[in-house]
Amino acid sequence: MKNKILVTGGTGYIGSHTCIALHEAGYDIVVYDNLSNSSREAVNRVSTLIGQTIEFIEGDIRDVETLRQVFSTHQFFGVIHFAGLKAVGESVAKPLLYYDNNVSGTITLLEVMAEYAVKNLVFSSSATVYGNPENLPINEESPRSCTNPYGQSKIAVEHILEDLAVSDDSWNLVALRYFNPVGAHSSGQIGEDPNDIPNNLMPYISQVAVGKLEKLNVFGNDYPTIDGTGVRDFIHVTDLAQGHVAALNYLDKQTRPKESGTTKLNSVGFLPINLGTGKGTSVLELVNAFNEVTGRDIPYQFTERRAGDIASCYASADKAKTLLGWQAELSVNDMCKDTWHWQSMNPSGYKVS
Ligand code: NAD
Ligand code: UDP
Repeated sequence: MKNKILVTGGTGYIGSHTCIALHEAGYDIVVYDNLSNSSREAVNRVSTLIGQTIEFIEGDIRDVETLRQVFSTHQFFGVIHFAGLKAVGESVAKPLLYYDNNVSGTITLLEVMAEYAVKNLVFSSSATVYGNPENLPINEESPRSCTNPYGQSKIAVEHILEDLAVSDDSWNLVALRYFNPVGAHSSGQIGEDPNDIPNNLMPYISQVAVGKLEKLNVFGNDYPTIDGTGVRDFIHVTDLAQGHVAALNYLDKQTRPKESGTTKLNSVGFLPINLGTGKGTSVLELVNAFNEVTGRDIPYQFTERRAGDIASCYASADKAKTLLGWQAELSVNDMCKDTWHWQSMNPSGYKVS
């Protein structure tokens, strides 16, 4: 029998790409999302791409009864938990919303998982938990700190998962700490679709390229980096999606009884793993790559540093390679090409233009 996975937040940017990768890897999927930051059209397009209608439930992770219904209908091997709010600025303005949605919502999900004895979880954490890192590349042992409610909500959930694993060794809880996900599916059918003016660099660049925004503001050119602009570890969303498949395969392998005649499972406990490429790229390097790959010319101007930004952030990707056998394959040029393919085919995202 195929392993069945509940994908919370599965209609969002990373979730929709991961659904395709999971299907291709032979997993059965059920998607659970309240559509607060995504579109039903994403479900339709993923269904078309995989050639099969996705089982989609519109629901909130804070809604115990709907979750119970889902867990009593399906027997899940595990949950990939993408559902969450992710805008740093909004989290500063609405901290209670962020703690309620991201932290209380995760507790509710974990309670229902416990009720139905589903103990395997892959959680969407973030490199933001490292705050301003002392050492680069950043490994999983680096201290955690953060100054905004969004990042705090990720750290809080990680602590909850750690405590849960200590309390009961039947839990297997992988926290994947994403660096900077960008790019889109190579078909151009699904991609990142920000509701408003994008906060993040790559969607901002692509909206300038398509003519929706006039020019890019580069936040600071006096950082101690190769060209003075911020450096990040951009990772193609397709690689990121494969990282989730690798994490589930790992859980599957680890939690199978090892010796014949014993039913004792091997506990994974709480396992934080970076998903990044291990390479840093500056803002200007990304702009230049985008120009080169797409033949566009992105106008930009230097402005003040953005409050809360750090100079450089890139991953040590060794743990993912050693434990999961996963590493990023796609280049910065692939990220630019696929972003542009998606944006130029869908200038208004999933909305009909
Ligand atoms: P996204 O907003 O596109 O997807 C999140 C999905 O969760 C959306 O479809 C939204 O409707 C859904 N959702 C939100 N709250 C919910 C709730 N209470 N109940 C049910 N569904 C709910 O974001 P994404 O970029 O795909 O990110 C997925 C996860 O990865 C998030 O947890 C995010 O914090 C984390 N993450 C994202 C990035 C990034 O740069 N995109 C980086 C690090 C971590
Ligand atoms: N950035 C920029 N202009 C923008 C958006 C981002 O110069 O309109 C810079 C930002 O200062 C940072 C890098 O691009 O150095 C990546 O920013 P993003 O918001 O995409 O990711 P994060 O800072 O959360 O890692």
